[in-house]
Amino acid sequence: MGLDFSILQTSDAGGRRAQLVLPHQTVATPVFMPVGTAGSVKAVPQDIVESLGAQIILGNTYHLYLRPGHEAIRRMGGLHKFISWPRAMLTDSGGFQVFSLSDLRKVTDEGVRFRSHLDGSSHFFTPEHSMDVQIALGADIAMAFDECTEYPADRSRAEQSLRLTMAWARRSLDHFRTHRHKVPWHYELGGATQSLFGIVQGGVYTDLRRESAERLVEMDFDGYAIGGLSVGEPRELTLEVIDAVLPLLPKDKPRYVMGVGYPDEIELYARMGVDMMDCVLPTRAARHALLFTSEGRINIKNKKYAEDQCPLDPACDCMVCRRYSRAYLRHLMQCGEPLSATLNTIHNLAYYLGIMQRVRTSLHSSPASLPRGPSSSG
Ligand SMILES: [Zn+2]
Repeated sequence: MGLDFSILQTSDAGGRRAQLVLPHQTVATPVFMPVGTAGSVKAVPQDIVESLGAQIILGNTYHLYLRPGHEAIRRMGGLHKFISWPRAMLTDSGGFQVFSLSDLRKVTDEGVRFRSHLDGSSHFFTPEHSMDVQIALGADIAMAFDECTEYPADRSRAEQSLRLTMAWARRSLDHFRTHRHKVPWHYELGGATQSLFGIVQGGVYTDLRRESAERLVEMDFDGYAIGGLSVGEPRELTLEVIDAVLPLLPKDKPRYVMGVGYPDEIELYARMGVDMMDCVLPTRAARHALLFTSEGRINIKNKKYAEDQCPLDPACDCMVCRRYSRAYLRHLMQCGEPLSATLNTIHNLAYYLGIMQRVRTSLHSSPASLPRGPSSSG
């Protein structure tokens, strides 16, 4: 058994509050998943990530495959044990990072050959290999191997990419079903297995997105992701694609939008019926002085905070806002103190996790709207 998904409440706008039972954690959705690229949510120790209320975090297959290697992690009992994270995890397929980080990629129907961004060594990833790596890592949820269509991509390029991704989805699923009992904790957790999600691609072409969704649903994955978003397209298009794809996905399975977004976006998508989201924004922005607060975005490097004794966000009760001033956070950043990244990230994560908490407790009270026009601030 990979997962159990029960919807507890729905809203007129399509939103839903649900319980997602995974081998390592029962997750209340909608949920935001902090990104723990190389087995660490950058700058924050696992016990603090837990105390912030994170229920599930991401690991990146590409990074962990290169260092320390999936077989090493398998020998150490899987990723949960290796990084000492008792709650749920999800790994991506490695595809996105292969396409965004590595050099000299060569894509064929069989798979993708690439050079490591670390040492230039040559590697070949196929859907089958991505499944083997993800099974060895042993996250609760694995993702089908896909080619993330870049933006902009013309129609014929998007069609070609979609054809490849659908063939790879089939191969991912077949291989996963045959080998999923090899996950490191299979026997320890009473025969529990990972789940596998398919990824809807198709660029910004809604008919291609429809075709992709229909074919994946036929294959019968445990859940469905919408991929290839937040790759540089205007946010109106992101919203349009999500709005078009959500009704095509089965109501009784989890839906995951990959790699989004700003605080107002994740709230909107959650209220539209997206159950899971992940994004590097709160953690990456924190390390670059960009902090999200109930009063809008703050660049903590700004001179006007030099003697500002107020908490970063007076409406936030995270451990950083309860204890430290804006002036101190600015000072740490100015001095390049490592504590700066830690404190900034803790607050941004608390803010993002708080948004999802609020959506879960107020699903009925604020219907999703579909604003068009220029970006609003977080
Ligand atoms: Zn805070």
